[in-house]
This record gives sequence, C-alpha cells and structure tokens, in this order.
Amino acid sequence: MITFESLGLSNEVLQAVKELGFEKPSEIQEKAIPHLLTGNTDFVGLAQTGTGKTAAFGLPLAQLVDFSSNSIQALVICPTRELCNQITEDFKTFTKFHKSAHIVAVYGGASIEGQLRELKRGPQIVIATPGRMMDFLDRKAVKLDNIKFIVLDEADEMLNMGFKDAIDDILKFTPKEKHTWLFSATMPTEVARIAGNYMEDPYEVTIGKKNSSNVNLEHHFFVIEDRSRYSVLKRLLDFHPEIFGLVFCRTRTQTKEISEKLAKDGYNADALHGDLSQQQRDAVMGKFREKTIRILVATDVAARGIDVNEITHVIHFNLPEDIENYTHRAGRTARAGKTGQSMLLVNQRESGRIKEIERLIGSRFTHSLVPSGREVCENQLFSLITKIQNVKVNEKEISPYLPKINEILGDLSREELVKRFVSEEFNRLFDYYQNSSDLNKSMSERGGARSEGRDRSLDDTNFTRLFINFGSLDNIHSREMMKIICDKTNISSKSIGRIDIKREFSFVEVENDIALTVVDGLNGQMVDGRKMRVEKTEEKAPRERSSRSSYGSSGGSSSSGGRGGSRRPSGDGEKKSYAPRERSSYSDRERSSSSRGDAAPSRDAAPSRDSYGKRPRTSGDDKFKKKKY
Ligand code: AMP
Repeated sequence: MITFESLGLSNEVLQAVKELGFEKPSEIQEKAIPHLLTGNTDFVGLAQTGTGKTAAFGLPLAQLVDFSSNSIQALVICPTRELCNQITEDFKTFTKFHKSAHIVAVYGGASIEGQLRELKRGPQIVIATPGRMMDFLDRKAVKLDNIKFIVLDEADEMLNMGFKDAIDDILKFTPKEKHTWLFSATMPTEVARIAGNYMEDPYEVTIGKKNSSNVNLEHHFFVIEDRSRYSVLKRLLDFHPEIFGLVFCRTRTQTKEISEKLAKDGYNADALHGDLSQQQRDAVMGKFREKTIRILVATDVAARGIDVNEITHVIHFNLPEDIENYTHRAGRTARAGKTGQSMLLVNQRESGRIKEIERLIGSRFTHSLVPSGREVCENQLFSLITKIQNVKVNEKEISPYLPKINEILGDLSREELVKRFVSEEFNRLFDYYQNSSDLNKSMSERGGARSEGRDRSLDDTNFTRLFINFGSLDNIHSREMMKIICDKTNISSKSIGRIDIKREFSFVEVENDIALTVVDGLNGQMVDGRKMRVEKTEEKAPRERSSRSSYGSSGGSSSSGGRGGSRRPSGDGEKKSYAPRERSSYSDRERSSSSRGDAAPSRDAAPSRDSYGKRPRTSGDDKFKKKKY
C-alpha cells in the first residue's frame, strides 16, 4: 500500500499530515508528490476539485521552501477569495512544524493595508488572487525575484473569470528559472496555451479522464416547461429531505428571487450573488458551512471556489450561459471521495445541448423524470421511519412524561401505535400532494429524443422491464446497478434502458431480445453476500406513468433520515390543503391521497415483495456500508 511515508516527505511534513488525519494519499497526491519533491520539474495536474490537490502541491512546497529565509519563494495563484483563504489555512497546517514559516493570503475585497503589513513581515509563501496580486505588483509593494515555485490552481476557472491577462502579467514578474505547477479540472485551449508558453516539458498527471467529471458524480437532466421550473425545483428538494445543496441560477435577480421564494415557502435557503458585500457573503457562507442554510442559491461567479465537502446535490435551475461552466458548477458536489448528484433542468429546446455537455465532461447524463407527488410522499415517509429508527432519546428529559403518556396510550397495541404515529405525518403529505401534476415534458415532441440507452426506453416498446431484488437499501445506485448487470452478463450498457432504483428493489429495462440473457445471467449471482433474484415483470409499465418514477431514490439521501433541505413546500401551482406548522420538522410535509387514481405506477407492475422472499436484513446502519463488487 502506498503511504505518505513512502512518498519521500520529511518528518515535519509527515507530522502535519498525521495531525490532519489523512490516512493514505489520494490519487493525485500519490502521483504528484514524488515528482514535485524533486524540486526541478514543471507540472500539470488535471484533477477535479475535491481530489486533494491542495495537499498534492502544498506538502511538497512545505518541504522545498527554505523557511529560514525571509523572501517569497512560492506563490500560489487561485481564482477566489474563499479558495485563497482555504489554501492559506491548509498551508498553515502543512507548515505547522516549521517554526519560522510565514504564509500570507492576498485577495481582493479586504483592506490592502493589512495585507501590505503582512507582506512586509517577509513571508516565504504567498497565496493570492490574480487581481490583488497585480495591485501589489503595480505598486511595487511586493518582490517576486526569489520565486522558485509558482502554482496556478484551478487555472481553467481563473481563465473563465477573465484573469488571462493578470496571469500573464504576474508570470512576467517572476524569474525565468522558477518552476510552474499548474492544476486544472479541464484542459481548454487557453490552459494548454499557458502550459505551452510558460512551462518546459511539464510532467503531466491526469486523475480520471481529461475534461471529465468526477466518477462519484451522477448527472441527471429533467425535461420540463419553463413555467414549472420553480415547482420542479421544489419537487426535487422535497424528494431529497436530506439535501444539502447548491442551486445555480444565471442572474443575480433570479438568484435573489428564487432564494426569497424558497425561504418564504419554508426552506432553509439563502442567496449568494455579486450584489452582496464581502461581509454579507462571508456571513452566508458561514451559515452554509455550518448547515444552518441547507440550500444555497448562487450565481456562477459567486459560487466559484466554494469548498464545502458535504454538498450532496447541485441543481442547475437553468443551463449555465457558458456550457464550460457546467463542470465547475457540478464539481461543487461529490468532493473528497463522497458521492453527489448534479441535476439539470432543461426545456425541450435546451435538451439538445445535453450531448454537448456530455462531450465536454466525458460522462453520460441520465434522462430522469421529476418524481410524482406520490414518490415524494414515499421518500419522505421512509425518511421519517429511518429518522425514528435512529433518533437519540433524551432519557432524562423525556422520562418524567412517560408514565402519563403510557397511561393515555396504554390501550393501543404496538401496531396501532406505529400506524398512528406515522399517519400523523403521512396524512399531511397526502393532503399536499393529492392533486399534484406531472411536471415532466416529453423530450421527443421536438424530435429531440436521443437514440441510445436509457432515453430510448422512454419512447418505444423494445424494452422489457425486469424486477431485481436489490435497491437503495443495499446502497445500489443506478450507476452501480448498470455496472453489475454489464459485468455479470457481458451485455453492453447501451442495451440497458431506464433504471429505477426503489428502496428495497429496482426495475431495470433491457432490450427485449436480451432480456432472457440478463435474467439467466443475473439470477442466483451473489452480490455482497446476497443472492440476486431477477424476473420479468408481468406487465409492461404504462409509459407515461412508469416514467414518473425514473428518478428513484438513488440519491441515497432518501433513506437516510431527517429532512434538512425543506420545510413546508407550497405555491408550486399544485392544489393543496396544507396547514403550516411551527416546527420545522418532517411534520410540515404534505400528503397525497391514497385514493387517487394514479397510484404509484411502477409499484403497480411490481411483483409483490413477498413473492421474492424475505431479505436477510431490513434496514438500519448496515445500509450505509459501501458495497464492493
Ligand atoms: P482539495 O481537493 O485540496 O480541495 O481537498 C478536498 C478535501 O479533501 C479537503 O477537505 C482535504 O482536507 C481533504 N483531503 C485531501 N487529501 C486527503 C487525504 N489524503 N485523505 C483524506 N482527506 C484528504
């Protein structure tokens, strides 16, 4: 196993790594650190944000810089103030065991005098945003003559933000003999130009595919009507009670509008945009980091450099103006080895651009359907159940009331009690969603339907629907399901249609002519110690109805308890009878009528669970374990 010790790091640096709690190097660290430690190489690291890039260049710098000197030897240029502060904090930790290490952050939107004073104290490493660095260079307030290393972090973002000239100028102020280390998520021509112009035979490391998105990141798109964008947003937020997400809008005005509407509708939402003062931005970011705000609505520019590892979902309220920005938006989730979902709302016309983004990110999108009201109810219900299962009981505070409560409820059987507690919440959900409409728009109306895989299954009848006895409870997501099927049956992913992951089982559509191959190939196979049971469903799912459940609970958040993101949805154009409640608990939910005609479509066609035998475990902590195949 590769360890930090085996990379050639000094004791001081290793001590810092230990303090950070990093157990083993990430891929970029493993590949970059030994080369960078030689101190005599130019370097290009193509890696998404969240892969551990900062330590990949920071740990070698902590070792290569001479901290007994008072001259600036390393300069890190990064796109935003937030990132600048983040890197500075990380560097202070990396150099913690070098007594005289002095790291200074230099960024716009803060007093120039304070930073000037810091620079005069003789730092060895400066972390800077391009604009403010140029200010100092223009004023001749900083000398870069002794620079040995310059790091361009998130180079593609800096160029997107229009810092091309500033970067060129800064580089001109540095000595020729220095080494340049460039990190970027993507390699557009402009970044390649910098590498070509300023670097000599750089050593290149790519994590994942070039220009590609993180493998832990699922990309979904929803085809909807413009007028229902807000309703769709709310539906998605409601479907993921545990969401901790970013919603991207194109303009400041829209950002403000959406966040205000969400807040009014009871969600923990706030906005981040360019009209805010730095102080206001810091306050919003502070609340988001500590999760007081669960949904941050932001413009592209304002959200650059946001480094919050736990973001579960990125929702694109509309396409970014510049398609290249999709990667930067989506890269805010699925960081540091975590999984995440990027959900893009497009109208029929815009759906034609999906292929363009797919080419750019090197990953496929899943055409998902906005969940029906019933599916939202179902998700919320099971979320509540998990929450009850995991609730921490405050014995001391609750015990004085228990005798009285037991006296009142003493006559009720366990079954009756469970039913009543759950109904207390579920009735509300039913009420709210009973008249909810289908918010999906067909992609094919404008001839925009794609001709491959999942999308094809939405529009024709060449697919057979299979029941598989594994679901989100088994930690299976659509991507993993696809992999299991392809690996175990040797069929191409192109023959697989829509994958609908339910809580305890899944439906997978496969081309008719290979359906038997898949059934035979999968049946009896062991996955994580459990036998797979696969059957053709008795009837084909009615297209319109079944399609509504395609955005299943694959996000993982659906069954993880709690609700976080949303409080009391309202005003999405759906008729509701909903009584707002004071508490921001699950109980603010709405309900959909059990008697309504369009009952959960996919379940309609599902064989009853009992007919597939009992699963060895039901729920509980074990469902959070990662599967290995
Ligand atoms: P970065 O890509 O540098 O923004 O890092 C993303 C996150 O991963 C940060 O919170 C780091 O603290 C964390 N991280 C970086 N390297 C490691 C590692 N080797 N083990 C665990 N966490 C890490």
